[in-house]
Amino acid sequence: MTEEKQIFIVEDNEKNLELFKAVLGTIPNINISTSITGKEGLQYLKTNYLDIIILDIQLPDMNGIDICKELRKLDKYKKTPILAVTSFAMKGDKERILEAGFNDYIPKPLQIKEFRESVIKYLE
Ligand SMILES: [Mg+2]
Repeated sequence: MTEEKQIFIVEDNEKNLELFKAVLGTIPNINISTSITGKEGLQYLKTNYLDIIILDIQLPDMNGIDICKELRKLDKYKKTPILAVTSFAMKGDKERILEAGFNDYIPKPLQIKEFRESVIKYLE
């Protein structure tokens, strides 16, 4: 029996969130939970355990970089894959994201095949 992996997505744009869920929903043996706000998302992550976390960087209440830094302070999330999704494309943005503790960086607009493959890679 294969154990179901728990994925969590924080994304404030509902269209993007629907797209993420549609793409990741095609991966077998996963369960997807979501939040459209940073603070609620962080609270959920603190009180539950998730196997892989996808964070939008630009959120209205708390950005993805600060969420990632908070998560990395917790023992249970020291090694959990945390992926950033963002349309930031300025020089230095990728470095700033990786320094915050993210494993990887997924650019918007989303390249569906690459996005799905990145998530599968981190699920293994
Ligand atoms: Mg956003």
